Amino acid sequence: MAKANYIGGKAIPAANGATDSVVNPATGEVIDEVARSGAGEVDQAVAAAAEAFPGWAAKTPRERSEALLALAQVIEDNVDELSEIEMRNCGKPKSIIGIEMDLSADNLRFFAGACRNMEGKAAAEYLEGHTSFLRRDPLGVVAGIAPWNYPLNMAVWKFGPAIATGNTVVLKPSELTPLSSLRFAELTEGILPPGVFNVVTGQGASAGDAIVRHPLVRLVSVTGDVNTGKLIARNAADSLKRVHLELGGKAPVIVFDDADIDAVVTALSEGAYYNSGQDCTAPCRVIASAKAFESLVPALTEAVGAINVGDPFDEDVAMGPVISAKQQARVAGMVARAAESGAEITVGGASLDRPGYYFAPSVVVNPAQDSEIVQREVFGPVVSVQRFTDEDQAIAWGNDVDYGLSASVWTNDVGRAMRMTRALQYGCVWVNQHIMITSEMPHGGFKNSGYGKDMSAYALEHYTELKHVMIKH
Ligand code: NAD
Repeated sequence: MAKANYIGGKAIPAANGATDSVVNPATGEVIDEVARSGAGEVDQAVAAAAEAFPGWAAKTPRERSEALLALAQVIEDNVDELSEIEMRNCGKPKSIIGIEMDLSADNLRFFAGACRNMEGKAAAEYLEGHTSFLRRDPLGVVAGIAPWNYPLNMAVWKFGPAIATGNTVVLKPSELTPLSSLRFAELTEGILPPGVFNVVTGQGASAGDAIVRHPLVRLVSVTGDVNTGKLIARNAADSLKRVHLELGGKAPVIVFDDADIDAVVTALSEGAYYNSGQDCTAPCRVIASAKAFESLVPALTEAVGAINVGDPFDEDVAMGPVISAKQQARVAGMVARAAESGAEITVGGASLDRPGYYFAPSVVVNPAQDSEIVQREVFGPVVSVQRFTDEDQAIAWGNDVDYGLSASVWTNDVGRAMRMTRALQYGCVWVNQHIMITSEMPHGGFKNSGYGKDMSAYALEHYTELKHVMIKH
């Protein structure tokens, strides 16, 4: 039987009985069916969330914090089941799935603490005879729209800060990967009152759009493609709801002469192919000095050729498939066009001849700065390597894309690291590191990578409104 939405603590199928198939990308086989919801189911979910809002908003920070801690514990208590769901639904290898499960639990524990530590300006008599103070109040019903690359983790980034601050939530997971959110919703029973957390499954253009246009939804937080983000921002404008956009990335990895090339190769061969390269912060665009380039290209080619690709359930496998046939064709097309336009493919470059949606880990050398492979997000296991002439060109090329999510600089010169971290227009700049994130620090972009921050105390600010209270006495 098809899996139903989770609305007001109950399983609610699509009223017309429509379903979407869920596929295992490692085999191409259908593994489940879920409700294909539309405006009616979204209305029900928003109504349930609106009904639950006053009670949830009235809870003390301690009570909400305790619920979040219990939710983190639920993830840990059910880590095997949740991991297996993600492995089957996303093709994530067993060797890496624990990282995002741990991060999800840690994110919730962070928000549990942070919501008890909200800060603001001092109350005072800024006008004689009047005392002013600030409140940070929840918005009401807020929505999260999640992508397929880290289904449960991205859901946590949306609902964690929202419920920590007293909002109630309608979450729409990606139509490709709804299973972990639905299972997690069931596991919230007994921890969250009915209606505080609702999950509606369905397509972006129908269920997602109905959420974005719903007048009672006060904020919509989306992680997804840049074009999806632009469309949602436009469609949300009619109801003037807040929009929080975590969109794509095209992270430069700028490598200077004095960099530790072994460390760069390790960071690339692990980070760029992690989750099959389907990571918005993936270190996918290397810009190296001439000297670094000479040693980096052969070492990277060798390391990438040795990545163990295969069945996600095999403990030794480091990389599984990409998410879908469509994504596989997109990656293949971009790599083929890079080769046609004169870049050299030193390893990989093609889909693998096996069931499922596998693409070989690939390295593309010397593409032109204005080429598609440098300018557009591949979201697959592909790294490009270019050679810069001087620091100014490294900065110019580094910033010369529409995205601005994350970047890294590899050098042992502190002054250069300082200049580069200031000049690069990215929401996160690592030095001698790439891809590590932590719950205490914000995640979000510049430019077309969107606006708003996930994780950290800054996320809590988006989910609350500042209210000035002035008392005459
Ligand atoms: P997507 O844009 O196709 O879909 C994201 C979500 O938006 C899905 O739930 C989808 O159903 C929904 N959606 C699509 N059209 C909609 C509409 N008109 N109205 C409302 N909702 C709609 O993205 P994806 O392919 O699932 O995810 C991959 C993208 O996500 C990549 O571009 C990646 O860079 C980005 N991403 C960004 C971050 C970040 O933190 N910046 C993190 C992970 C992924």
